[in-house]
Amino acid sequence: GFRMGIVGLPNVGKSTLFNALTKTAAAQAANFPFCTIEPNVGEVNVPDRRLDTLAEIAGSKQIIPARMTFVDIAGLVKGASQGEGLGNQFLANIRETDAIAHVLRCFEDGDITHVDGRVDPVADAEVIETELMLSDLESIEKRRANLVRKLKGNDKEAQQQDRLLAAAQAALEDGKPARVVEVDAEDLKAWKGLQLLTTKPVLYVCNVNEEDAAAGNAFSRAVEEMAAAQGAGTVLISARIEEEISQLDAEEAEMFLGEMGLEEAGLDRLIRAGYDLLHLETYFTVGPKEARAWTIRQGTLAPQAAGVIHGDFEKGFIRAETIAFDDYVACKGESGAKEAGKMRAEGKAYEVKDGDVLHFLFNT
Ligand code: GDP
Repeated sequence: GFRMGIVGLPNVGKSTLFNALTKTAAAQAANFPFCTIEPNVGEVNVPDRRLDTLAEIAGSKQIIPARMTFVDIAGLVKGASQGEGLGNQFLANIRETDAIAHVLRCFEDGDITHVDGRVDPVADAEVIETELMLSDLESIEKRRANLVRKLKGNDKEAQQQDRLLAAAQAALEDGKPARVVEVDAEDLKAWKGLQLLTTKPVLYVCNVNEEDAAAGNAFSRAVEEMAAAQGAGTVLISARIEEEISQLDAEEAEMFLGEMGLEEAGLDRLIRAGYDLLHLETYFTVGPKEARAWTIRQGTLAPQAAGVIHGDFEKGFIRAETIAFDDYVACKGESGAKEAGKMRAEGKAYEVKDGDVLHFLFNT
C-alpha cells in the first residue's frame, strides 16, 4: 500500500491529526477495523462514494475500500540531521514513505508553546526542509565515498548511481531539494531507488483553529503562496475539528461539518490530495460477494493492475473485461452494460482508467 509520512515541528498538531485520522468512523469499516501496526502507524480507508454506489447496484455483501497508511513521524527538530531529537531514527522512517504530509502550525494559541517562540509556518517549513536536505547531503557523501572502488572497476550500475547522486548533490549544495533535479526516463528507477528524503513529494497541511477551517487565514495563505512557488500541494485542516469528528458517528459528523461550513472531513481531503500528489487512481472489482477498490498509479497497464490483486493475475493475464463507472451506473450493472455494448474486452496494452470496473481473465 501507499504510505504517507506526517512530519512537522513539535506542537504543530501532528499527533492530534494522526489520532483523529485513524479513529474517525469513516476511516474504519466493520470488516476492516483500524489497526495499529505500531503506535505511530495507522491504516485508513480511502473514502470513495462510487464504491457504495457500485455495491448497491450489484447487491454486494461486503464493501472493501482501498487503504492508505499514515505514519506519525515525531522528533523532527532543528539539528535532527545531526542527531538531535530522535534524529536518525525519524529520518529512516521518512525514507520508507511514498510522500510527506508536512503539518504547519497556522494557529495562534498563547497556551501552546511554539518551539521557536513565534508562529511562522513558512519559516517552520524551511527548518524542516533544511534538516532533510542536510540529511540527504550527508548520506550522498557517504554513498559516493562507498562507490569509489566500484567506479574504478567500471561498474555500469555504480556509474549511474554516482552520476545521479552527483546531480542531487549539486542541487542540494545550491540550497535546493533534490526533487528539482530533472531525471531522464531511463534513470527514473535508479533515481527512486536512491530514496532521498527531498525527492519525496510534499503536501503542506495548514493546521488552523476551528474558526478558520472554512476560509483559512493569513498564515495558511502564506503557505499556499510558498507551495505554489514550489509546485507542492496544500490542504487546509483544523486538527481540533478532526479530533471532534473522530468521536462522532457518520451521521453526526455530517451535521457537525455542515455547522462548521465544511463540505467534507479533512481526512477525505487529505487522502484525495495524497492521491493527486502521488498520481494514484482507483479501479473496482464488483460482484455479489464484494465490491472492492484497488489503488494503482496513473498509466498502469491492465496486467500490472491485475497484479495488485495477485501476482498470478499478472503472470497469466489474458484480458480485462472493462466497464467505465458511469456506464456501469447508467446501465444499472454488469448485465445491462453488456447488453448495451458497454463492456469492452481489453488486452495487455490497455491503460486502466480511474473508475474502471474490471474483471480479469487469466491462465493459472
Ligand atoms: P505535535 O507535537 O505536532 O504532535 O502536536 P500535538 O498534536 O500534540 O498538539 C500540540 C498541542 O496543540 C495540543 O495541546 C493540541 O490540542 C493543540 N492543537 C492542535 N491543533 C490545534 C489547533 O488547530 N488550534 C489550537 N488552538 N490548538 C491546537
